Amino acid sequence: MEKKGVDFIREIILKDIEEGRYNKKVHTRFPPEPNGYLHIGHAKALHINYTIAKEFGGKFNLRMDDTDPEKETKEYVDAIIDNVKYLGYDWGEKVYYASDYFDKFYEYAIQLIEKGKAYVCDLPPEKFKEYRGTLTQPGKESPYRDRTIEENKVLFEKMRNGEFQEGKCILRAKIDMKNPNILMRDPVIYRIKKTSHYRQGNKWCIYPTYDFAHCLEDSIEGITHSLCTIEFEIHRPLYDWFLEQLSIHHPKQIEFAPLNLTYTILSKRKLTELVEKKYVNGWDDPRMPTISGMRRRGYTPLSIKNFCNEIGISKTESLVNIELLHYFVRQHLNKICTRVMVVLNPIKIVITNFPEGKVEYLDAINNPEDENSGIRKVPFTKEIFIEKDDFMEVPVPKFYRLSPGKEIRLRYAYFIKCEKIIKNERGEIKEIHCTYDPDTKGGNAPDGRKVKATLHWVSSSINTSVEVRLYDHLFTKENMNEIEEGKTFLDYFNNNSLKILRNCPAEINLKDVKEGEKYQFERVGYFCVDPDTEKGNNVFNLTVKLKDEWEKIKKGGN
Ligand code: ATP
Ligand code: MG
Repeated sequence: MEKKGVDFIREIILKDIEEGRYNKKVHTRFPPEPNGYLHIGHAKALHINYTIAKEFGGKFNLRMDDTDPEKETKEYVDAIIDNVKYLGYDWGEKVYYASDYFDKFYEYAIQLIEKGKAYVCDLPPEKFKEYRGTLTQPGKESPYRDRTIEENKVLFEKMRNGEFQEGKCILRAKIDMKNPNILMRDPVIYRIKKTSHYRQGNKWCIYPTYDFAHCLEDSIEGITHSLCTIEFEIHRPLYDWFLEQLSIHHPKQIEFAPLNLTYTILSKRKLTELVEKKYVNGWDDPRMPTISGMRRRGYTPLSIKNFCNEIGISKTESLVNIELLHYFVRQHLNKICTRVMVVLNPIKIVITNFPEGKVEYLDAINNPEDENSGIRKVPFTKEIFIEKDDFMEVPVPKFYRLSPGKEIRLRYAYFIKCEKIIKNERGEIKEIHCTYDPDTKGGNAPDGRKVKATLHWVSSSINTSVEVRLYDHLFTKENMNEIEEGKTFLDYFNNNSLKILRNCPAEINLKDVKEGEKYQFERVGYFCVDPDTEKGNNVFNLTVKLKDEWEKIKKGGN
């Protein structure tokens, strides 16, 4: 991949190093909350954090931001770790967990109370909202704001000891109820949640908010540059305020634009809904923009990384065409995949002048992109299958494939000429009778005559049949950030996003395949062996079609 110029984050870091900040060290982190699987947007964040740390000879932490017990689970933690490993981002000795810092967070909260910078507030939730004001109106101070330090300490301890019901009170920072930034109007630091935590069990019944916990997590780990998406920009004053008040190590928060992709959504909440409402078959459904889904579909780590490099880093949000991702996937698979022949929608050809019962093993090139890939043998017989679409009884103009009286080339085999169409009593084509020219073995005529099409084919007697799952966009709308009023994202779900074809004739070489193996089905696309594959039923997922939509879009100036 061609190297891009220095982006604004690298510029900031270069300047920090130049000016001797953070002892000229760089330490980044990727902090997913284990409340869902990672998606391609997370891959972008991971890639940015990881590559920056490596480039500057710094450190990179993988940290579970697990401070909210309600939706976090061990299953998600395991999936995240597995995904990061798959992508190949090495996090060093250990995975960090924010929940390991609960005792420290609690101590920091007490320090704030002792400085007169935090108080326990008993306003009920609706009053809390009312007092907070709006974007245009300042807030009002809570009647509990002037509690003494001693009183606050006692009450906070009682909160911690479970002496109050959920919602009875909260701990708030004492900042400024008139601040134009609503987040600075005495934000919540701790709330009571009598929910057990997947790692900490019932040790805690109060949990810190994101804004309080996140800056502390970064500080505790010695992070220097805390890179996050743009929605956290308005949280930055709060990030800075907590660290200043506590006078502890102060990382620099820098925001970048999140990834948005056409025809998909990158929101954990919405992806969770697709899984829970069974629109898809789990988080690793190959249609999902999750790392697990992409892995199952056949996207390689390298293609995902090349894509991340290409999109780069900026501050302004944009919508990236999903064809760009497909382009990188196709580019990598082109280099590494063995070519095979599979017919998705078969129609039978009988080669009338080919001897009955004869099997000829023809040489097929495994991968023209890889000199060392060698050749394999493909059996040729009297009866074969080709794609229905490759034949037209009454050809339209510019249809160069098979039609009555026309000659075409069978890949790696011979020229054949269509002589006769055999129909059943309903008038449907049952089989097509052709003759072959034995002098055209390998696909060239000694008399130099040319044909305009080369078709893939599979022997009808020596083959293996496979199941093929074809995928299309998850949603029907290009920009899923522009949902019409009165609709939800689910209204745009593409009901044709999965099509299953069973009993597709495939060349016999695909008889014993293993989960995860990747192939190019000639003239169709790249396919990956699905984990549902078991003895007797080989299942292939369409990774990407062969046709490069991206080149077309680029040429069209889009
Ligand atoms: P949700 O969708 O539930 O709001 P999230 O995707 O922000 O959650 P986190 O687990 O907090 O989930 O994300 C971990 C990191 O990934 C954060 O630093 C976040 O900024 C980043 N991230 C999330 N979505 C994207 C995206 N679309 N593009 C780039 N980075 C992202
Ligand atoms: Mg988030």
